[in-house]
Amino acid sequence: MSSAVEAPAAVLIPGKRIAARLSAQVAAEAQAFLHAHGHPPALAVVLAGDDPASGIYVRRKVAECGKAGIRSIGHRLPATVAEADLLALIDDLNRDPAIHGILVQLPLPPHIDASRVLDAIDPRKDVDGFHPVNVGRLSTGTDGLVPCTPLGCMMLLDTVIDDFRGRHAVVIGKSNIVGKPIAMLLLERECTVTVTHIATQGLREIVRGADIVVAAAGAPLLVRGDWIRPGAVVIDVGITRVVDPGSGDRTRIVGDCASAEMAHAAAVTPVPGGVGPMTIACLLANTLRAARAQTRRTAS
Ligand code: NAD
Repeated sequence: MSSAVEAPAAVLIPGKRIAARLSAQVAAEAQAFLHAHGHPPALAVVLAGDDPASGIYVRRKVAECGKAGIRSIGHRLPATVAEADLLALIDDLNRDPAIHGILVQLPLPPHIDASRVLDAIDPRKDVDGFHPVNVGRLSTGTDGLVPCTPLGCMMLLDTVIDDFRGRHAVVIGKSNIVGKPIAMLLLERECTVTVTHIATQGLREIVRGADIVVAAAGAPLLVRGDWIRPGAVVIDVGITRVVDPGSGDRTRIVGDCASAEMAHAAAVTPVPGGVGPMTIACLLANTLRAARAQTRRTAS
């Protein structure tokens, strides 16, 4: 009787569980903050327009804030809101000492210059880490608020990698909210980082050389099993809703990676249930961090 030797399956990094642990830790610390200061950490959530996906994201963030003992204050504005009115609201929130974090849900209506709005947020309250001051701090390796999704990706990588030094990390996607900041964080850990994008030539061969792959292209199932070197760690940031073939018009969420083909990887994140929950947990953590930093400053 022959016994086939099966290759070990890749570890599935349990993003949902790790995120729940982080949220519980934030909740305990938010409670301690409340006792120490008489008020909870507080996040203003600004939603302009009626994009249904944005509405869902905002409701989820508000619900998670509630569970963690973070006060969230919603500001719903019509799609027709004038840029000047939105900027005036940001100015009020910047000045309000009871508000520690400001989140402006993207995308904004097309007539509004999103970068002007994001640049108007006080960097100390910029819990998304998108303000140029925080971007600059990240790229110079100094302390600042780090964008939530990349921060969550690093926490997931930390659960499976002890030493990042000298590892080759390939990032697919160069957006300001995921690709570039994750590249900076990996560089800070002394990875050798290759950032790729839509115009990159020979992407498959580049990814084949990677010890760490972070896929943030929004291109469903772009990364196939034969792109992945045995023993690599794969973080799948992509979220795309696609119609399930043969199921009428039922849809499902897929990532950028064909994870079912990656049993030879060391570890992979699932989609859904991988990076997504970490993003929200990191938003809570950033809000608590911002609240502590502002309270320290005003208390002294
Ligand atoms: P984006 O559209 O701003 O940027 C996508 C990047 O990927 C671009 O730099 C583009 O050049 C590159 N790209 C696109 N197609 C490519 C291809 N075929 N080959 C190589 N590069 C390609 O998107 P984003 O905001 O950075 O988001 C990326 C993905 O991550 C999306 O699916 C988004 O929904 C998802 N996302 C998930 C979370 C989360 O919490 N899980 C958070 C943010 C974004």
